Amino acid sequence: MAFYTHPTAVVETDNIGDGTKIWHFAHVREGATIGKNCIVGKSVYIDTEVEIGSGVKIQNFVSVYKGVRIEDDVFVGPSVTFTNDLYPRAFLWDEDTITPTLVKTGASIGANATIICGVTIGNYAMIGAGAVVTKDVPDYGFVWGNPARLKGFVCPCGMKLQYKEKKGETVILECLHCEKELKIALKIYKDVRD
Ligand SMILES: [Zn+2]
Repeated sequence: MAFYTHPTAVVETDNIGDGTKIWHFAHVREGATIGKNCIVGKSVYIDTEVEIGSGVKIQNFVSVYKGVRIEDDVFVGPSVTFTNDLYPRAFLWDEDTITPTLVKTGASIGANATIICGVTIGNYAMIGAGAVVTKDVPDYGFVWGNPARLKGFVCPCGMKLQYKEKKGETVILECLHCEKELKIALKIYKDVRD
């Protein structure tokens, strides 16, 4: 099994895993790497040297710029915007000004969110639609708003975790949907702002 490219897509790399589908008018630049079983939606742009893991879904109209790395099983909602230059000036562009961004395994980014470069989005974190993410998001963290603030934590199943109990420097959270329990360090939990 190989990957599929729609005839209208422009794909300039061979580093694409089996089962990946690249849809209408997408553009994948030279040096980019995409893993297995990904979906690259309509009009998506994948810049040079971008690394994307396996099982990633990138919805329509997303641009993933150089400096962004996306691990396995990440969901990137429609029209999500990444950036790669913290101090953009049209007349001062230089490859050295790229600030890297990392999206870790299992994270989800809601439609139209903007990810300011230099942040790490933790494993299974959830970014609300339209959020403007300006700082790191912890593993399982649920953030939204502008600027995005930590509103709680989510289970890998996608549902919001409920507070169960505190044990020393750890908070135990539970999922009422799938009954999974997760431990979050108290010092991270304290950043939650309702
Ligand atoms: Zn769950």
